[in-house]
Amino acid sequence: MAGQLLSKSKILSGWQCHKRLWLELHEPDKAIETPSMRRAFAIGHEVGRVVTQLFPDGILIGPEDPDELPDLDAALDETRERLAGPGPLTLFEATLQYGGVLVRCDVLVRDALGDIRLVEVKASTKVKPVNYIDCAVQTWVLAGAGLHPVRVELAHIDNQFVYAGNGDYAGLFAFEDLTDRVAPMLENVPDWVHLYQEVIAGPMPPIEVGPQCRNPFDCPFLAHCRPEDPPYPTRLLPGGGKAVWQLLADGVEDIRDIPPGRLTSEIQERVRRVTAAGQAELRPDAAALLGTLGWPRYFLDFETVSFPVPVWAGTRPYQALPFQWSCHVQRESGELRHREWLAEGDGPPMREFAETVIDALGDTGPVFVYTGFEARILKELADRFVDLAGPLSAIGSRLVDLHPVARASYYHPDMLGSWSIKKVLPTIAPDLDYAGLGDVQEGGAASEAFLGLMDPETSAERRETLRADLLRYCKLDTEALVRLRDFLAGAS
Ligand code: SF4
Repeated sequence: MAGQLLSKSKILSGWQCHKRLWLELHEPDKAIETPSMRRAFAIGHEVGRVVTQLFPDGILIGPEDPDELPDLDAALDETRERLAGPGPLTLFEATLQYGGVLVRCDVLVRDALGDIRLVEVKASTKVKPVNYIDCAVQTWVLAGAGLHPVRVELAHIDNQFVYAGNGDYAGLFAFEDLTDRVAPMLENVPDWVHLYQEVIAGPMPPIEVGPQCRNPFDCPFLAHCRPEDPPYPTRLLPGGGKAVWQLLADGVEDIRDIPPGRLTSEIQERVRRVTAAGQAELRPDAAALLGTLGWPRYFLDFETVSFPVPVWAGTRPYQALPFQWSCHVQRESGELRHREWLAEGDGPPMREFAETVIDALGDTGPVFVYTGFEARILKELADRFVDLAGPLSAIGSRLVDLHPVARASYYHPDMLGSWSIKKVLPTIAPDLDYAGLGDVQEGGAASEAFLGLMDPETSAERRETLRADLLRYCKLDTEALVRLRDFLAGAS
């Protein structure tokens, strides 16, 4: 297979891992696309769609639908014909081939002087090392095809951009000039091409899983490459790091097999010790801390959605925007009440969210949360709605984060190195079960469900299901907090 035509994406796969490249060519059906990979593709398409608005005279080469595979021969022909014409020109997905490599360029601009500008578009918020490789390969192919870009740019999302509304996305992208960084890499491209063609032609490279499996991209062959997990996988030790990869390289797959004294991180060593002992550990410090807090007690959880391309005026790319809350209120009498709010999905939910939260949280009493997420959202709401800043800040000052308390005081071997509430809950309250919920069992799925509510095409029946799933999920999160506080305080 030596001399096989390589696409730019194949070269990037080879750069990440030779085995990935080999598998993509020889055993593509072993790849498993995860929901987060699907989300990343959808985000890439959305960002690509918006960038075309910034080049109003641009001509698309190939199909309108980004999911549709292009006819590459037709795309090569059309690109050649367009470029053969005179004058300024902007092409989207210009398709060129040279030296055994085929590239499709996000944006290719030829100005009135004939100067060529190449723009690679990314949904990320900064330049990454892999982007230089990406641009170098394209520049090399363009040069080989007789086009010599005078400027090579990466357009990435500027996360400080604030959307003014009315579809005005000027300023959404930061255009970084990579020309000087890419130029010295061009002489390496033929070697990469030769190397990767040899990889493809040879046997499967004997590469073990390692840090490369998630960097710079999540590899879709991870489930295929990863050996079956033992009951307490070493790879799940909190914080990961070199020590963990070294243990795996030494064949220590199960936490129980890690020799005492091998781990230097306090938390990793605690996980090892508790797992080896096979018994949960609850330290008394948590009870002392939690016992001093008064009544009533509030247990609060938010759900948020974010957009790479903002849809509501006054918001930034990737900003977490709250659309739902759940709150359990516990009184000294033992009474436990539940309140909740979920946006309809027909407009920006932030104002009503803030007003309803203020109404539900009263004036006094600790507000238990899990992680610092709710604090950040309250702060952002206070910045956004100045007239509500006082009560929102007052709620913020009452927050008690149970996550660091649990992390410092409690571990059960079945948590498998994680203090996420989904891992902690089954070990302290097996009667509460996220697996018994509908399609929404984690935050990413909650965001997806809310996007379904926002979509005018969603049927009334589906809408009802989505709302019910979201409400059950968020309610379980705060029920879990009630149980966790009681457990840590020694009340159960
Ligand atoms: S999972 Fe890891 S080792 Fe396997 S192909 Fe992907 S990057 Fe390579």
